[in-house]
Amino acid sequence: MSVPPVFRAPGPFSGDAIDLPESEVKHARKVLRLREGDRAIAVDGCGVAREGSIEYRGNGAAIVGGSDIHGWGEPEVAVTLAAALSTNDKFDSVIQKGTELGVCSFQPLIGEKGKVRVDDPARLRARLSRYARVAEAAMKQSRRSVLPTLAHPMTLECFFAESRPTGPCLLFHPGQGSVALSDLTLPGRPDHVSLIVGPESGFSDNELALAHDHGCQFVSLGARILRTETASPVAVALVMHHLGQLR
Ligand code: SAM
Repeated sequence: MSVPPVFRAPGPFSGDAIDLPESEVKHARKVLRLREGDRAIAVDGCGVAREGSIEYRGNGAAIVGGSDIHGWGEPEVAVTLAAALSTNDKFDSVIQKGTELGVCSFQPLIGEKGKVRVDDPARLRARLSRYARVAEAAMKQSRRSVLPTLAHPMTLECFFAESRPTGPCLLFHPGQGSVALSDLTLPGRPDHVSLIVGPESGFSDNELALAHDHGCQFVSLGARILRTETASPVAVALVMHHLGQLR
């Protein structure tokens, strides 16, 4: 039997039937061609899933039956990925791969040495709504129930001031003095880990000093220099593995 498709439906889930939004009904009918009674999963984007069967109701559709499954498809550790914005649509892949790998919040960073500027509000809005669409598609495709949050782009300094990251904070930096992830001991089983990845031109001395003052550990991904959009998913995958979350 094939794996049931996942649909996003607004929560909180209550009662026996979860109504699907119009766009999801269209997808179920026209793209996936699901028939009455086919198995399907609804997720609320906040960590709850229901598996039931499709019931068409006039122009709408609902998933009926099943009971709530909390934390469906989610890792046991909340990972924040603060990654420098890249030009064009390269950051889309950071959002897509990060979501597939289990990131729970994204913080796009404006690096001091970075080339990306976000001073046009209309273009920023368009960018953020595209990222949100990418994250939702990746959540459904990877069979998660949490839609990662996506913050407005900010500098590293604001990130430390506003989000006050809890748990270990790992800054990925190819310099001497960075330790290999395999040599890193993370205290106990952290609930939350923050990962920081820089822009193509790397971090400024000021940003490195700031991160050091905020207790970040500097981590190396080996001798080869990866592009930002490669380094981000590699860092997430390795940390998830390190914490036993890829089992
Ligand atoms: N010339 C830049 C430098 O020396 O930092 C290279 C920046 S690299 C293209 C973009 C970002 O990816 C870096 O700021 C870092 O966060 C991450 N990165 C890439 N390769 C890495 C490596 N081998 N070890 C640790 N981080 C790496």
